[in-house]
Amino acid sequence: MIVAEQKPFEEIEEMLADYRRILVVGCGACVTVCAAGGEKEVGILSSALRIAAKAKGLEIEIVEKTIVRQCEPEYVEGLREYLADVDVVLSLGCGVGVQHLAEAYPKIRVLPGLNTGFMGGTREHGVWAEACAGCGNCILAETGGICPIARCSKSLLNGPCGGSHNGKCEISDEVDCAWQLIYDHLQALGLTSRLVEIRPTKDWATARDGGPRKVVREDLRL
Ligand code: SF4
Ligand code: SF4
Repeated sequence: MIVAEQKPFEEIEEMLADYRRILVVGCGACVTVCAAGGEKEVGILSSALRIAAKAKGLEIEIVEKTIVRQCEPEYVEGLREYLADVDVVLSLGCGVGVQHLAEAYPKIRVLPGLNTGFMGGTREHGVWAEACAGCGNCILAETGGICPIARCSKSLLNGPCGGSHNGKCEISDEVDCAWQLIYDHLQALGLTSRLVEIRPTKDWATARDGGPRKVVREDLRL
Protein backbone atom coordinates (compact mmCIF):
# COMPACT_ATOMS: atom_id res chain seq x y z
CA MET A 1 0.00 0.00 0.00
CA ILE A 2 0.95 3.65 -0.27
CA VAL A 3 2.13 4.98 3.09
CA ALA A 4 1.51 8.64 3.87
CA GLU A 5 1.54 10.95 6.87
CA GLN A 6 -0.55 13.98 7.65
CA LYS A 7 1.18 17.30 7.05
CA PRO A 8 1.89 19.37 10.16
CA PHE A 9 -1.30 21.06 11.35
CA GLU A 10 0.25 24.53 11.06
CA GLU A 11 1.07 23.89 7.39
CA ILE A 12 -2.49 22.77 6.67
CA GLU A 13 -3.90 25.77 8.52
CA GLU A 14 -1.70 28.13 6.52
CA MET A 15 -2.71 26.55 3.20
CA LEU A 16 -6.36 27.03 4.10
CA ALA A 17 -5.98 30.54 5.56
CA ASP A 18 -7.74 32.29 2.66
CA TYR A 19 -10.70 29.93 2.50
CA ARG A 20 -13.87 29.80 4.59
CA ARG A 21 -15.85 26.91 3.08
CA ILE A 22 -13.73 23.78 3.00
CA LEU A 23 -14.43 20.25 1.81
CA VAL A 24 -12.12 17.76 3.56
CA VAL A 25 -11.99 14.55 1.53
CA GLY A 26 -10.67 11.30 2.94
CA CYS A 27 -9.79 8.12 1.07
CA GLY A 28 -10.95 4.71 2.23
CA ALA A 29 -7.97 2.77 0.92
CA CYS A 30 -4.22 2.89 1.72
CA VAL A 31 -4.31 6.09 3.76
CA THR A 32 -7.07 4.65 5.93
CA VAL A 33 -4.92 1.59 6.67
CA CYS A 34 -1.93 3.75 7.63
CA ALA A 35 -4.18 6.01 9.71
CA ALA A 36 -3.34 9.19 7.80
CA GLY A 37 -6.39 10.11 5.72
CA GLY A 38 -9.41 7.93 6.42
CA GLU A 39 -12.81 8.90 7.78
CA LYS A 40 -11.48 9.05 11.34
CA GLU A 41 -8.61 11.38 10.44
CA VAL A 42 -10.96 13.56 8.36
CA GLY A 43 -13.13 13.97 11.46
CA ILE A 44 -10.24 14.72 13.81
CA LEU A 45 -8.57 17.20 11.45
CA SER A 46 -11.85 18.94 10.66
CA SER A 47 -12.59 19.36 14.37
CA ALA A 48 -9.11 20.73 14.99
CA LEU A 49 -9.52 23.22 12.14
CA ARG A 50 -12.90 24.36 13.49
CA ILE A 51 -11.48 24.83 17.00
CA ALA A 52 -8.43 26.71 15.68
CA ALA A 53 -10.62 28.99 13.55
CA LYS A 54 -12.95 29.70 16.45
CA ALA A 55 -10.00 30.59 18.67
CA LYS A 56 -9.01 33.17 16.05
CA GLY A 57 -12.55 34.51 15.77
CA LEU A 58 -12.94 33.19 12.22
CA GLU A 59 -16.14 31.72 10.76
CA ILE A 60 -15.39 28.62 8.73
CA GLU A 61 -17.58 25.87 7.37
CA ILE A 62 -16.19 22.38 6.85
CA VAL A 63 -17.89 19.57 4.97
CA GLU A 64 -16.45 16.11 5.64
CA LYS A 65 -16.59 13.32 3.09
CA THR A 66 -14.60 10.12 2.67
CA ILE A 67 -14.82 8.24 -0.60
CA VAL A 68 -13.85 4.64 -1.31
CA ARG A 69 -10.76 5.54 -3.34
CA GLN A 70 -9.53 8.89 -4.61
CA CYS A 71 -7.55 7.16 -7.37
CA GLU A 72 -10.71 5.86 -9.11
CA PRO A 73 -12.69 8.23 -11.37
CA GLU A 74 -16.12 6.81 -10.51
CA TYR A 75 -15.66 7.49 -6.79
CA VAL A 76 -14.17 10.94 -7.45
CA GLU A 77 -17.21 11.77 -9.59
CA GLY A 78 -19.37 11.18 -6.51
CA LEU A 79 -17.90 14.32 -4.92
CA ARG A 80 -19.51 16.65 -7.44
CA GLU A 81 -22.62 17.22 -5.32
CA TYR A 82 -20.47 18.40 -2.39
CA LEU A 83 -18.53 20.96 -4.39
CA ALA A 84 -21.21 23.53 -5.14
CA ASP A 85 -20.93 25.30 -1.79
CA VAL A 86 -17.23 25.06 -1.02
CA ASP A 87 -14.30 27.17 -2.18
CA VAL A 88 -11.48 24.74 -1.55
CA VAL A 89 -10.92 20.99 -1.27
CA LEU A 90 -8.40 19.55 1.17
CA SER A 91 -7.55 16.03 0.07
CA LEU A 92 -6.41 13.52 2.64
CA GLY A 93 -5.62 11.06 -0.15
CA CYS A 94 -2.12 10.28 -1.36
CA GLY A 95 -0.58 12.40 -4.11
CA VAL A 96 -2.42 10.31 -6.70
CA GLY A 97 -5.74 11.14 -5.08
CA VAL A 98 -4.98 14.86 -4.94
CA GLN A 99 -4.13 14.89 -8.64
CA HIS A 100 -7.23 12.92 -9.60
CA LEU A 101 -9.41 15.40 -7.72
CA ALA A 102 -7.62 18.39 -9.25
CA GLU A 103 -8.00 16.96 -12.76
CA ALA A 104 -11.64 16.02 -12.27
CA TYR A 105 -12.55 19.47 -10.89
CA PRO A 106 -10.26 21.98 -12.63
CA LYS A 107 -12.24 25.00 -11.44
CA ILE A 108 -11.74 24.36 -7.74
CA ARG A 109 -8.53 24.56 -5.75
CA VAL A 110 -7.42 21.15 -4.42
CA LEU A 111 -4.79 21.11 -1.67
CA PRO A 112 -2.78 18.19 -0.25
CA GLY A 113 -3.25 17.39 3.43
CA LEU A 114 -0.77 14.52 3.43
CA ASN A 115 2.86 13.92 2.64
CA THR A 116 2.99 10.78 0.50
CA GLY A 117 5.92 8.57 1.39
CA PHE A 118 6.41 5.15 -0.12
CA MET A 119 5.05 1.72 -0.98
CA GLY A 120 5.29 -0.44 2.09
CA GLY A 121 3.50 -2.63 4.52
CA THR A 122 2.57 -2.97 8.17
CA ARG A 123 5.36 -4.38 10.32
CA GLU A 124 3.56 -4.04 13.62
CA HIS A 125 0.69 -1.93 14.86
CA GLY A 126 1.63 1.65 14.04
CA VAL A 127 4.79 0.77 12.11
CA TRP A 128 4.99 0.80 8.32
CA ALA A 129 8.12 0.09 6.30
CA GLU A 130 9.12 0.63 2.69
CA ALA A 131 9.23 -2.59 0.70
CA CYS A 132 9.00 -1.88 -3.03
CA ALA A 133 10.29 0.99 -5.17
CA GLY A 134 8.17 0.08 -8.18
CA CYS A 135 11.14 -0.63 -10.44
CA GLY A 136 8.93 -2.22 -13.08
CA ASN A 137 11.00 -5.40 -13.47
CA CYS A 138 10.85 -7.42 -10.28
CA ILE A 139 13.93 -9.35 -9.22
CA LEU A 140 12.57 -10.84 -5.98
CA ALA A 141 12.93 -14.34 -7.44
CA GLU A 142 16.70 -13.81 -7.41
CA THR A 143 16.96 -12.22 -3.99
CA GLY A 144 15.01 -14.54 -1.72
CA GLY A 145 11.88 -12.40 -1.77
CA ILE A 146 13.65 -9.40 -0.22
CA CYS A 147 13.97 -6.29 -2.33
CA PRO A 148 17.43 -4.76 -2.53
CA ILE A 149 16.13 -1.90 -4.67
CA ALA A 150 13.85 -0.58 -1.94
CA ARG A 151 15.43 -2.00 1.20
CA CYS A 152 19.17 -1.58 0.57
CA SER A 153 20.06 2.07 1.17
CA LYS A 154 22.23 2.00 -1.94
CA SER A 155 19.88 -0.16 -4.04
CA LEU A 156 22.79 -2.51 -4.62
CA LEU A 157 22.21 -5.41 -6.97
CA ASN A 158 25.27 -7.24 -5.71
CA GLY A 159 25.71 -6.78 -1.98
CA PRO A 160 26.42 -6.29 0.75
CA CYS A 161 28.61 -3.22 0.63
CA GLY A 162 31.52 -2.79 3.01
CA GLY A 163 29.33 -0.95 5.50
CA SER A 164 27.20 -3.88 6.59
CA HIS A 165 27.83 -4.46 10.30
CA ASN A 166 26.25 -7.10 12.53
CA GLY A 167 23.36 -7.38 10.13
CA LYS A 168 22.68 -3.65 10.18
CA CYS A 169 23.04 -1.06 7.45
CA GLU A 170 25.79 1.50 7.75
CA ILE A 171 23.28 4.33 7.71
CA SER A 172 21.77 3.34 11.06
CA ASP A 173 21.73 0.55 13.62
CA GLU A 174 17.95 0.75 13.33
CA VAL A 175 18.04 -0.37 9.69
CA ASP A 176 18.51 -4.01 8.74
CA CYS A 177 21.06 -4.62 5.99
CA ALA A 178 18.89 -5.83 3.13
CA TRP A 179 21.72 -7.95 1.78
CA GLN A 180 22.17 -9.65 5.15
CA LEU A 181 18.44 -10.44 5.07
CA ILE A 182 18.81 -11.77 1.54
CA TYR A 183 21.75 -13.93 2.57
CA ASP A 184 19.91 -15.31 5.62
CA HIS A 185 16.83 -16.11 3.58
CA LEU A 186 18.74 -17.82 0.77
CA GLN A 187 20.74 -19.75 3.34
CA ALA A 188 17.53 -21.04 4.94
CA LEU A 189 16.45 -22.20 1.49
CA GLY A 190 19.84 -23.80 0.73
CA LEU A 191 20.26 -21.41 -2.17
CA THR A 192 23.34 -19.37 -1.23
CA SER A 193 24.99 -20.52 -4.45
CA ARG A 194 22.78 -17.90 -6.10
CA LEU A 195 24.88 -15.24 -4.42
CA VAL A 196 27.96 -15.98 -6.50
CA GLU A 197 26.07 -15.08 -9.64
CA ILE A 198 26.78 -11.47 -10.56
CA ARG A 199 23.62 -9.56 -11.34
CA PRO A 200 24.26 -7.26 -14.31
CA THR A 201 23.47 -3.57 -14.35
CA LYS A 202 19.74 -3.07 -14.10
CA ASP A 203 17.82 -1.51 -16.96
CA TRP A 204 16.14 1.38 -15.16
CA ALA A 205 14.00 2.28 -18.17
CA THR A 206 11.11 0.41 -16.55
CA ALA A 207 11.51 2.45 -13.36
CA ARG A 208 10.98 6.18 -12.75
CA ASP A 209 14.15 6.88 -14.71
CA GLY A 210 12.26 5.95 -17.88
CA GLY A 211 9.77 8.78 -17.27
CA PRO A 212 6.13 8.65 -16.15
CA ARG A 213 4.79 5.14 -16.61
CA LYS A 214 1.46 3.88 -17.82
CA VAL A 215 -0.12 0.43 -17.98
CA VAL A 216 -2.61 -0.15 -20.77
CA ARG A 217 -4.64 -3.36 -20.62
CA GLU A 218 -6.49 -3.54 -23.93
CA ASP A 219 -8.53 -6.50 -22.65
CA LEU A 220 -10.01 -4.30 -19.92
CA ARG A 221 -10.69 -1.16 -21.94
CA LEU A 222 -14.28 -0.32 -22.77
S1 SF4 B 1 12.54 -5.58 -7.40
FE1 SF4 B 1 11.42 -3.82 -8.15
S2 SF4 B 1 9.27 -4.48 -8.35
FE2 SF4 B 1 10.34 -6.03 -7.11
S3 SF4 B 1 9.94 -5.40 -4.99
FE3 SF4 B 1 11.90 -4.45 -5.61
S4 SF4 B 1 11.40 -2.42 -6.43
FE4 SF4 B 1 9.50 -3.63 -6.28
S1 SF4 C 1 24.90 -1.96 4.62
FE1 SF4 C 1 23.57 -3.37 3.51
S2 SF4 C 1 21.63 -2.23 3.22
FE2 SF4 C 1 23.17 -0.74 3.87
S3 SF4 C 1 23.90 0.09 1.97
FE3 SF4 C 1 25.29 -1.61 2.48
S4 SF4 C 1 24.43 -3.43 1.47
FE4 SF4 C 1 22.88 -1.84 1.43
